[in-house]
Amino acid sequence: MRHALISDIHANLEALEVALNDIRAKSIERIYCLGDVVNYGANPNECLKLVRDAAPVIIRGNHEAALVSEEIASTFNPYARDALEWTREQLPEEDRRSLSRLPLTYAQGEWMLVHGTVEQPENFDYLFDAADASRNFRHFSGCRICFFGHTHVPLLFSEKNRQAFHLSPGKVELAREDRYIINVGSVGQPRDLDPRLGYMIFDDEDFSIEFVRLFYDYKVAARKILKMGLPSFLADRLGVGR
Ligand code: ZN
Repeated sequence: MRHALISDIHANLEALEVALNDIRAKSIERIYCLGDVVNYGANPNECLKLVRDAAPVIIRGNHEAALVSEEIASTFNPYARDALEWTREQLPEEDRRSLSRLPLTYAQGEWMLVHGTVEQPENFDYLFDAADASRNFRHFSGCRICFFGHTHVPLLFSEKNRQAFHLSPGKVELAREDRYIINVGSVGQPRDLDPRLGYMIFDDEDFSIEFVRLFYDYKVAARKILKMGLPSFLADRLGVGR
């Protein structure tokens, strides 16, 4: 079965719609969301509705946790804090609460999902390099693959090779005797200097992943961010992908 893994949408409706249309056009059976549906972008409510309708499983990101937690919000930079205040005002209290209670991890057979790290999911630490990955491999011994988001950079870590590989668009056959930690990229705010949205397809039968990159109208998304009075940095970064 093929699974679509979407993460870090960040209230970017233009990117999300293109991603979901592509997933539907490919007749992919299940969609999972790895967190950070809201904050930074101009359409938190619209994105939340689309994700809830499409994905039976949504993992809690730090931006969901920050909706009700001052402790998490205090870790944000000034841009993220400004946007968070605005996002909190947009979302009904019921949604703020339910988002902050989303599960931190989800496991299905040989694979699992987390937003930041499986080592301490509630801390939302950043997994950047092979040293971070090698510590994390010890924390999901029952699974072969841990998919994550949070850094907005599509990467694959192999336990055997002890190396990180940046993921370009296309299919990668995984080795059945290896284990992996894989970043699924970001739909709404890519940070690998490519402004195209990214999401992942995982095929659990032929044990492969495919990273998908698609153009979307980031200028519309950026204009809306400015119109809402959100920090201009959040609009500008969409065009450069950082
Ligand atoms: Zn994020």
